[in-house]
Amino acid sequence: MESYSAVLQRLRTAFLSGVTVPEQFRRTQLNQLLRLLQENEEKIVEALHKDLAKPKFEAVVADLALVINELGYALSNLWSWLQPEHVRRNLATKVDDCFVRREPFGVVLIIGPWNYPIQLLLLPLVAAIAAGNCVVIKPSEVSPAVEAVIAELIPKYMSPDCFTVVCGGAEETKALLNNKFDHIFYTGSQAVARIVLQAAAPHLTPVTLELGGKSPCYIHDQVNILVAARRVAWAKFFNMGQSCVAPDYVLCTVAMRDALVPAIKQVLEEFYSSEPQKSPDLARIVSPKHWTRLMGLLGQSKGRVVLGGESDEADKYISPTVLVDVSEDDALMKEEIFGPLLPIITVGSVEEAIDFINRQEKPLALYAFSNDYNVINTVLERTSSGGFCSNDGIIYMTLPGLPFGGVGSSGFGNYHGRWGFETFSHKRAVMLRGWALERLNGLRYPPYTDSNLSWLRWTAAPKLCSIM
Ligand code: NAD
Repeated sequence: MESYSAVLQRLRTAFLSGVTVPEQFRRTQLNQLLRLLQENEEKIVEALHKDLAKPKFEAVVADLALVINELGYALSNLWSWLQPEHVRRNLATKVDDCFVRREPFGVVLIIGPWNYPIQLLLLPLVAAIAAGNCVVIKPSEVSPAVEAVIAELIPKYMSPDCFTVVCGGAEETKALLNNKFDHIFYTGSQAVARIVLQAAAPHLTPVTLELGGKSPCYIHDQVNILVAARRVAWAKFFNMGQSCVAPDYVLCTVAMRDALVPAIKQVLEEFYSSEPQKSPDLARIVSPKHWTRLMGLLGQSKGRVVLGGESDEADKYISPTVLVDVSEDDALMKEEIFGPLLPIITVGSVEEAIDFINRQEKPLALYAFSNDYNVINTVLERTSSGGFCSNDGIIYMTLPGLPFGGVGSSGFGNYHGRWGFETFSHKRAVMLRGWALERLNGLRYPPYTDSNLSWLRWTAAPKLCSIM
C-alpha cells in the first residue's frame, strides 16, 4: 500500500504542476463528481440503507440532492468567483491595479462523519475542487458501506493525481494527520476536533471545524401547534435524530408542553403509524455502540417518558421518544443527544428561555417558533448560534447562499456555496504598480520633512477614496 507521505507527495506534485488552476479543469472535475452521483444513485442509496437503514427519500433529499444542487450552484457561479476583486484606492495608489485574488491552498484534507456520509464529505469536496485544491478524502469508518462506495467511485471518476481516498478509523486518521496539509476541513465530534487541532498546530495548518452541540428549539405560546409539532418532529426524527442540526431539546411553558405532547403524538402516528418500528421511513442508529450510548442516556435521565421509549437492540432501534420533567442538570442535557430522544424543558417566559440558552455552550443551530415576529426577533437578537431558523428546523442549511458552520464550541469556519469556495481559497492581496507618479512617491523618501509628512497623510487618507 502507498504510504500516506507518498500519497501526499503525489498530490503535491500534481498541485505544483498547476494542473488544478485552470477553470476548465475545475469544471471537468465538478462535472465528473456530478456524473458519479447521477450514475450511481442506486448504489449510494443502497449503501446508505446498509449503514443506517436510511429511507431512500432521506438519502436522496439529504445526501444526494444537496450535493447535486451544490454542484449546479458551483458550476453556475465558478466564473464569477474566480474573478479578481478590485478594491478602492487612495490618491497614492490611484494608478495601480489593486485586487484580491482567490488562490487554492494546495493539498487539503477533508475528514467526514457517518451521519450524512455522502453530503458531509462531498459538499466540502465541491468547494475544495472549485477553489482549485488537491484533496485527500477521509470518509468515516463508522458507515463502512458508504466508505467502500466512496473508495471505489472517486478514483473511477476523478483525477487520481489530484483526489484520493484514504480509509480507516482513528489510528489511520491520526497517522494521516502527522503529515503537513495546507488546510484541514473536519466534520464530527468536539472530542476528535481537539485531536485534529493539536495535529494541525505543529504545521500551523489552518483548520475548519464543523462540530455539533445542543441545538435548542424554543416554542412560544402562540403558534400553530400542529404545524409546529410536525416541523419539530420531522427535524428531530429525520435520520433517527442523528443530525448535527436536529433540535436537541424543546424549551416552552407548561401550557405549551401540555398542548405539544398530544400534537407530537398525533404527528408521529401520521408519519410512522402506530407501529413505528415497522415504518420504512425511520432510519436506525448507526451502530450497537451508539445505540448503547443513547440507551445509557435514556436510563440515566430523571425525565418522564411520555411518548415512545421502546427499543430493540438487535434492530438498533429506539422509537421516537419524548420526555418531560427534564431538568437542566439531567443526563440528557450533559451532551449532544444525537438520537431520537426529545426532552421538553419548561420555562416561564421567553426571557427565561433566552437565559437558559445563554447559559449553555453556543449551539450549531437555534430554532424559535412563534406567531409573533417580535418574539422571534428577541430570541434572534439576544442569543448566538451557528445558524438560526424561525418556525422550522434543519431547513435553513439547504440554501447555498447561507453560510453553514458553528460558533464557539459548535465549530469555526463555514461552507456551502460561495462560503465554501472562500474557505478553501487563500485571499491574496495584489498591488500591481508601474513606474508612474514617482514625484508623489518621493514624498516618502528620506530626508523626511514635516511638509512631506502632511502631504503623505493627505494622499493616503481614506476620505480621498470618495473624492477621487
Ligand atoms: P467522530 O468525530 O467520531 O468521527 C468523525 C471522523 O473523525 C471520522 O472520519 C473518524 O474516522 C475520525 N476519527 C474518529 N476518532 C478519531 C481519533 N481519535 N483521531 C482521529 N480521527 C478520528 O464524529 P462522528 O461520531 O462521526 O460524528 C458525530 C458528531 O459530529 C456529532 O457531535 C455531530 O453533531 C457532529 N456533526 C457535525 C456536523 C456539522 O456539519 N457541523 C455534521 C455532522 C456531525
